[in-house]
Amino acid sequence: MDPETEREHPLTHSTNWPTTPSMQPIHVIGGGLAGSEAAWQIANRGIPVRLHEMRPVRMSAAHKTDGLAELVCSNSFRSDDHQTNAIGLLHEEMRRLNSLVMRAGDANQVPAGGALAVDRDGFSAAVTAALTGHPLIEICREEIAGLPPADWDSVIVATGPLTSVALADAIRNVTGADALAFFDAIAPIVHRDSIDLSVAWFQSRYDKAGPGGTGADYINCPMTRSQYDDFIDALLAGDKIGFHDWEATPYFDGCLPIEVMAERGRETLRHGPMKPFGLTNPHAPQDKAYAVVQLRQDNRLGTLYNMVGFQTKLKHGEQLRIFRTIPGLHGAEFARLGGLHRNTFLDSPKLIDATLRLNAAPRLRFAGQITGCEGYVESAAIGLLAGRFAAAERLGEAIVPPPPTTAHGALLAHITGGHIATIDAGPRSFQPMNVNFGLFPPLAHAPGRGADGLRLRGSQKTIAKKQALTARALDDLTRWIGGDQVAAAE
Ligand SMILES: Cc1cc2nc3c(=O)[nH]c(=O)nc-3n(C[C@H](O)[C@H](O)[C@H](O)COP(=O)(O)OP(=O)(O)OC[C@H]3O[C@@H](n4cnc5c(N)ncnc54)[C@H](O)[C@@H]3O)c2cc1C
Repeated sequence: MDPETEREHPLTHSTNWPTTPSMQPIHVIGGGLAGSEAAWQIANRGIPVRLHEMRPVRMSAAHKTDGLAELVCSNSFRSDDHQTNAIGLLHEEMRRLNSLVMRAGDANQVPAGGALAVDRDGFSAAVTAALTGHPLIEICREEIAGLPPADWDSVIVATGPLTSVALADAIRNVTGADALAFFDAIAPIVHRDSIDLSVAWFQSRYDKAGPGGTGADYINCPMTRSQYDDFIDALLAGDKIGFHDWEATPYFDGCLPIEVMAERGRETLRHGPMKPFGLTNPHAPQDKAYAVVQLRQDNRLGTLYNMVGFQTKLKHGEQLRIFRTIPGLHGAEFARLGGLHRNTFLDSPKLIDATLRLNAAPRLRFAGQITGCEGYVESAAIGLLAGRFAAAERLGEAIVPPPPTTAHGALLAHITGGHIATIDAGPRSFQPMNVNFGLFPPLAHAPGRGADGLRLRGSQKTIAKKQALTARALDDLTRWIGGDQVAAAE
C-alpha cells in the first residue's frame, strides 16, 4: 500500500465540530455512496476518520471522475414518497438521521416528478466539499491493495460492486472462496400475497421435507403444453439487456439465464427449473402439468418468494409482461426483478454480525453494496449504520441496531440474517436486494376500513397498508433515535 496520504484541502476549523484529538482514527475504505456517508456519521460524533479512496490513482471500470459519491449510472434516487414507498421511507429516515447523501441530494435536486433525481456533478461536488471541509476527516487518495494494516483497529470496507482486485482477493482469503461473489445472478422475487393460490399450490417435489422443510415449501404454478410453448416463444423474442464490455459474459453452470436455456432447446427448461415431476395439482389432480414454475420462500418472514432458477437478462418491462402470463402470477407484484451483473458482494448472512462486523475479523466492518444491498440510497443507508455502529463502538457505547420495522432495520435484517439459504444447486441464494415492503415484518392488524368507516378494497387497501407500514416505521425510528445516544447528541 502506498503510505503517502494527501490532505485535499486545508482544514476548515469550525467551532461547531467536536474534536477528540487523542482518539485513534476509524479508517473507511472507499469514498462512494456508503463510505462517504459512513465517514460523515463518524466525524460528526467527534471521532477522526481517514477515508481512503483509490480514484483517481486507480479508476474502476465504471467510475469516470475523482469525485466522492459518484453516481455511476442513473441520476435517480427513485421515489421520494415516504408514505407509500419503501425507498421514499428510507430517504425520510436518512434525513432524520442527518444523512450527508440526502442533504446533498436534496440540495442538488432536478425535476423528476415524484422521484428524487439529482444533478450528479453538483451532488458529488457537495459530498466532496462537505467531507473535505470537515476538520476530522482526512482523505487519502490511495488503493488499499490488501488487508488493512494490523494496527488499524476499526475499519469500514465500503469498496462497492467494483472493489479492486487486490482487495477482493485479500477479503476472499479471509472469508473463503465461496463467500465472495463477483457476479449476482438474480431471480425475480414476488410478494407472497400477490400469488393466486386458487391456481398455484404449496408442495415440495415428491413431498420431500428435507432439512428444516415441511414437504410443502414451494409454491407451484402449472402450465399446459400450449402455455409452455407460448412462454418459450415470449422468452426467445423478449428484449434483453447486454453486458458491458468489461463485464465479459459471466455464465457458469447452474446459473444460465432462462432465455439462454430456452435458446439451447425448447425442452431445456422443462427438464431444468420448470420440470413438472413429483407434483400433483390439488386444484385438478387428474391433470398433469406440462411444466411447473416453482417459487421458494426467500425471507424468514415468509412475505417474499423467489422464482427458482429464473435468473434472466430480460429487460424489466419484458419480465413483468412475460412472467405475469404464468398461471398464478397474473397479479404478481415483484419485490425485485431478475438480473445478472458484475457485482462483488459477500455472503453476508453467514459472514457478518448484526452490527456489520466480519465474524472472522471483527475489526473489519462492511458497508454498502458489498454487503448485499442494492442501489445508491440503500448503499448509503448501510454506510450510515456502519458509521454509527463504528462510532458507538469507539466511544464505548452499546450498539443498538434500528428496529426491523424501520426501513434501515428491514434492510439490515435482509443483509445480516433475514434471508433463508437454499440447499438447491445453482447460484448462491443470497443475492442483492433493494429495500421493499416485503422485507418488513407484517402489520399486527392490517387496515380493513377507511377513515369514513367503509371497508377498503383493491388499491385503496394496498395504499392503506403501505401507509400503516410507513407510519409504524417512522414512529419506531423516532423511538430508536430517542433512545440512541448517537442521534440524541446531535
Ligand atoms: C455499472 C453499474 C451501474 C449501476 N447503476 C445503478 C443505478 O442506476 N442506480 C442505482 O441505484 N445503483 C446502481 N448501481 C449500483 C451502485 O454501484 C451502487 O448502488 C452504489 O454506487 C454502491 O455504493 P457503494 O458505496 O457500495 O460503492 P461505490 O459507490 O461504487 O463506491 C465504492 C468506492 O470504493 C472505491 N474503491 C474500490 N476498491 C478500492 C480499494 N481497494 N481501495 C480504495 N478505494 C477503493 C471505488 O473507487 C469507489 O469510489 C450500479 C452499479 C454498477 C457497477
